[in-house]
Amino acid sequence: MCGIVGYVGPKPAFGYLLEGLFRLEYRGYDSAGVALQYEKTIGIRKKTGRVSQLAEICKQNPIPGSCGIGHTRWATHGEPSDLNSHPHTGGNGEVVLVHNGVIENYSLLRDRLRALGYVFLSATDTEVAAHLVAYQLQVAVDAGTNPLDAKTCVQAVEAAAAQIKGTYGLAVLFRDVPGLLVATRLGSPLVVGIGRGEHFLASDASPLVGNTDQIVYLKDHETAVITADSFVLHHHDGTAPAVSIQALVQTSRDTELGEFEHHMLKEIFEQPQTIENALRGRLDDEEATAKFGGLNLDPQTLRAIDRIVLTGCGTSWHAGLVGEYLIEGFARIPVEVEYASELRYRNPPMSDRTMIFAITQSGETADTLAAMRECKRKGHPTLAICNTVGSSIAREADGGIYLHAGPEVGVASTKAFTSQVTVLTLLSLLLGRMRHLSYPEGTKIIGQLRAMPDTIRQTLKCFDQVKQVARKYYTAENFLYLGRLFNFPVALEGALKLKEISYIHAEGYPAAEMKHGPIALIEKDTPSVFIAPRCEIYPKVMSNLEEVKARRGPVIAIACEGDTKIAELADDVIYVPEVEEYLQPLVTSIPLQLLAYQIAILRGCNVDRPRNLAKSVTVE
Ligand code: GLU
Repeated sequence: MCGIVGYVGPKPAFGYLLEGLFRLEYRGYDSAGVALQYEKTIGIRKKTGRVSQLAEICKQNPIPGSCGIGHTRWATHGEPSDLNSHPHTGGNGEVVLVHNGVIENYSLLRDRLRALGYVFLSATDTEVAAHLVAYQLQVAVDAGTNPLDAKTCVQAVEAAAAQIKGTYGLAVLFRDVPGLLVATRLGSPLVVGIGRGEHFLASDASPLVGNTDQIVYLKDHETAVITADSFVLHHHDGTAPAVSIQALVQTSRDTELGEFEHHMLKEIFEQPQTIENALRGRLDDEEATAKFGGLNLDPQTLRAIDRIVLTGCGTSWHAGLVGEYLIEGFARIPVEVEYASELRYRNPPMSDRTMIFAITQSGETADTLAAMRECKRKGHPTLAICNTVGSSIAREADGGIYLHAGPEVGVASTKAFTSQVTVLTLLSLLLGRMRHLSYPEGTKIIGQLRAMPDTIRQTLKCFDQVKQVARKYYTAENFLYLGRLFNFPVALEGALKLKEISYIHAEGYPAAEMKHGPIALIEKDTPSVFIAPRCEIYPKVMSNLEEVKARRGPVIAIACEGDTKIAELADDVIYVPEVEEYLQPLVTSIPLQLLAYQIAILRGCNVDRPRNLAKSVTVE
């Protein structure tokens, strides 16, 4: 959630801050603000709404300064309003900060600070941090032993951080110590960009692209002490950790729209390429298996695994469900798919030979990170299936598999889902070939995976057909998505996409399970989307479809090319290429992404910035 940027250097900071906020806007977009230090004052501009609205007020009323911070908010405490927007001021304006995360003990801290005379203007938890830093600074300076300098400021930030329960990424300016930016984190990501005579700060690497190619990821409990020409790390325990500089490889084109109107549509159409990227270098024809560079587990350990837990949130959890069917089918290893938000507080029995996979696009999802840490604490090999190189989860996992899908900007995940499923297919192949899967079976799977980018290219041709279907149904207020076996998780994912971006109530269900409740919702204005490609239990799915038709519910079917039978039953059919059952999610999810997109457009929704949502959920 929320995006943080910061700059210290010789140039006016505003340009970088604003551009950075635009690039981070996918993380939160209910309000935005900047603070710039200039001759012992700190100017603040903040506004409810989009970054463009902030840009407008700054144009009318610019602020100079070459040291500054910025924030795009996704409210957790206090409604989106000008007053609740970040930056927030501490004391009498001597401290100004932005925050990503949740301060769980804010109410206790606020009462204490109020008793000390601090006045609160906003309803946020963040303002507590601002006053707390100001208070700690005051205490240190009043003691008479500390001058008001960078060292004292860092101590004040760390003393405040030590009292905070919850999560934080903080970027702090000090009115009376010009040119100093202090940043610290616990659970919320921060990355520092190192330039020539200048430094940049951001929540993820995207604002740094084009500004520097040298970056440093902050770790939990580390504080970055940043000026124009110096950058040092300080650990809350008093030590000075070594600075590990990494190369930034992303190019700015990755996040540009090109010929597309929306990031979501661009990312849907990128899928032939992203699936190819997920497969690249991982198909081993000779051994008829898959290979991964970063699993960091020897074959003996992999062979000894007796249970796998796949954990994630939202779309990643749906990919995990596909993974369960794949791994259990190919490798005969029992798999559990756990919501990370549940797993982090549960204590399910797990043997020493249980392996955990945390599935996450951003690598920063707070619940997934916490669930992963909980499993690590108990000694289980914990790996990540992750898109964002260098993210917290990627760094903390014992090993893992990158998706290589490139930045996903659209808030509704599309290409990350199909890449996650591709990687899980490869994983099931690898584990299967170590157990029950024969050489010819392995070879067959490899051949089909290799053909997948082309198959997806073919599938995307259904776009015009989808447009027609969308035009017919976009005013509906309820949708059911029904599928069985490999297409049950696809039904869940299809319903989620529609909910996320068009605000239509949609439920995904196993098609046969519908009889146990959702069938009551069927009526002439409630369309059911049947994901019904040919499969072993195709006749059963057809019976479920008949059950809906018998209740006069309109049916949109996703079916294999050439299936004329289904056209007799369904009101509308969207055809996709026929593939083996275990690969169907890769194909059948595509028309559902396009359907959600098209319906959202027809309803006038902002598909890349859906209300109430943010791209990476870095709060619990
Ligand atoms: N908890 C803070 C707020 O509500 C920060 C939320 C965020 O991470 O955007 O303002």
